[in-house]
Amino acid sequence: MSADLSGPVFRGQRRGLMYVLSSPSGAGKTTLSKRLIAQNPDLVLSVSYTTRKPRPGEEHGKDYYFTDEASFLEMAGAGAFHEWAKVFDHYYGTPKAEVDEALSEGRDVVFDIDWQGARALAKSAPEDVVRVFILPPSLALLRDRLQKRAQDSDEVIDGRMARAKEEIEHWDEYDYVVLNDDFSRALEKLSDILQAERLKRTRHPWVAGFVDALMKE
Ligand code: 5GP
Repeated sequence: MSADLSGPVFRGQRRGLMYVLSSPSGAGKTTLSKRLIAQNPDLVLSVSYTTRKPRPGEEHGKDYYFTDEASFLEMAGAGAFHEWAKVFDHYYGTPKAEVDEALSEGRDVVFDIDWQGARALAKSAPEDVVRVFILPPSLALLRDRLQKRAQDSDEVIDGRMARAKEEIEHWDEYDYVVLNDDFSRALEKLSDILQAERLKRTRHPWVAGFVDALMKE
């Protein structure tokens, strides 16, 4: 009988992985991560805290935990975040307790965070972090998506484009790069990377004992 190392049978014995997705805003990362989670019921999304205001349709506790600056900084001071950063003009932070609980249950956690967060997590948990950078097929398309998403002035869009370029500059700090020129193909790639990473030997500490027993048969 062959064992399915990625399956739920060994879930309790597998280290959960931290699946970090970054991209410039407008490259489709949030939609991709939501679809990936819908397809993989074992995955958990890390819901960040933020001091920015909710956008229409965003839900507290689902998209973000919306909070004010004083409460955010108090949490940061108390060490409640795995990492936190100022992105654009607001604070964003990855809560520790929820993530650690999921990981200790052997569940994989998806992070929709910027390059600063990706870098911090990779530093604090190098064994558990898998980083993917999602690239738009062109800057023209990115601008188009940003224009459609919000009815902002050209000036605001220019600012977002400048920040998008800053984010893209960090592409080579990531383990994988996925081009989002076709949504279904990009989603498939994210899923393939996840499946392969789940099979990595180092994520299956139980194998050592299994091999020991095997050799004694
Ligand atoms: P938005 O305000 O558009 O939802 O997010 C702005 C940027 O902040 C995105 O690049 C998003 O990935 C990033 N972000 C969201 N949550 C966190 C977090 O907890 N930590 C860090 N470092 N970045 C985050």
